[in-house]
Amino acid sequence: MTASDLSTSTTAEGVSERTAAHIDATERHAAHNYHPLPVVLARGEGAWVVDVDGKRYLDCLAGYSALNFGHSNERLVAVAREQLGTLTLTSRAFFNDKLSGFAEALTRLTGKDMILPMNSGAEAVETAIKVSRKWGYEVKGVPAGQATIITMEGNFHGRTTTIVSFSDDDVATSGYAPFTTGFRSAKYGDIEAIAAAIDETTVGVLFEPIQGEGGVVMPPEGFLTRLRELCTERNVLMIADEIQSGLARSGKTFACDHEGVVPDIYIMGKALGGGIYPVSAIAADRDVMDVITPGSHGSTFGGNPLAAAIGTEVVAMLEEGTFQARSAEIGEQLTAGFGPLVGQGLSDVRVRGAWAGIDIDPSLMTGRQMSEALMARGILAKDTHGSTVRFAPPLVASDEDVAVLVTAVTEILAAARA
Ligand SMILES: *Cc1c(COP(=O)(O)O)cnc(C)c1O
Repeated sequence: MTASDLSTSTTAEGVSERTAAHIDATERHAAHNYHPLPVVLARGEGAWVVDVDGKRYLDCLAGYSALNFGHSNERLVAVAREQLGTLTLTSRAFFNDKLSGFAEALTRLTGKDMILPMNSGAEAVETAIKVSRKWGYEVKGVPAGQATIITMEGNFHGRTTTIVSFSDDDVATSGYAPFTTGFRSAKYGDIEAIAAAIDETTVGVLFEPIQGEGGVVMPPEGFLTRLRELCTERNVLMIADEIQSGLARSGKTFACDHEGVVPDIYIMGKALGGGIYPVSAIAADRDVMDVITPGSHGSTFGGNPLAAAIGTEVVAMLEEGTFQARSAEIGEQLTAGFGPLVGQGLSDVRVRGAWAGIDIDPSLMTGRQMSEALMARGILAKDTHGSTVRFAPPLVASDEDVAVLVTAVTEILAAARA
């Protein structure tokens, strides 16, 4: 009997037998590197997903912002389908007819001279680290082997061995030593601490304009402006990881745009692939990117025609500005809805565009419990850690959708306080 033959009768855990069968098989055969909510999704359209039992859920995680444009976005699916039947991979040993347009579009969007395409976000972060080090040695004149990069406390930049080397999350690092050296940590948002950490070996400051995994944590106002000034003054690269904060999530194309700041390197991923396919890239000016020479970096799939076709359409959609505007509108609705809950079950609320982090009074419930209560009401979200839950609905969510979320959180907190 396969999972799809099972009836929708319920198990002791309160899920259908069909759902339980999928969960059991997944847990048995796939590594336990996530702790998912007990829901098995089968379809998605716009801001909504449907599980194997036909129950609908509002998706308030949106693939960690990879799905900014919604599930099964018509324009993106059409482009992907067309390219699937045309040409998907050439390797970079040859040129392909889609990378040219993608590179042109993404340089236009970022205002930078060049891009370097990769696949996952972590690969793009690795690329930024390599480019910055090489720039440090070849352009800035840092002594061989001594480059340092300043990173922020509470960061999340991905899961490779080098990237977890500068994570301060014990779960992400435990058991993975030895780590890569050359990173120096400073308090997030603390310009004096960053200035003090920079010395003649420093090649860059790697930061998230908003820390998404950290719980939608924002630096103090003016931080981005001051960091830009500091990086220019000390001749170090300002490296903005906009993988989660960028591409309309925060209400602007890039979160750095909130202070009108342009970093030396943009790191992009997640929504760049429209939730269809992993597409990532860094963008920088020629004086930085020219340190990359044939053979010095690469990826079999990076810049492939399927990725490039999807990425080009993503840029075209962003250039229209409607997603950024809608994100800002959703943000106003989230602020109006969650703001009054501070002191009424929430200790803090942070909203920037369609992106909200709520800190629940830990005596009421954990973030996990909130996520489970929301799931029971047809809303999917995920705690980041402890009592913090992040909401990032697709930017195609309607006012009614956002109201459903706000009402649910309000009622769950009211019931917990009663
Ligand atoms: C998700 C994320 C990454 C890593 O991207 P992957 O595609 O999971 O490798 C890096 N930085 C930030 C800020 C992210 O949110």
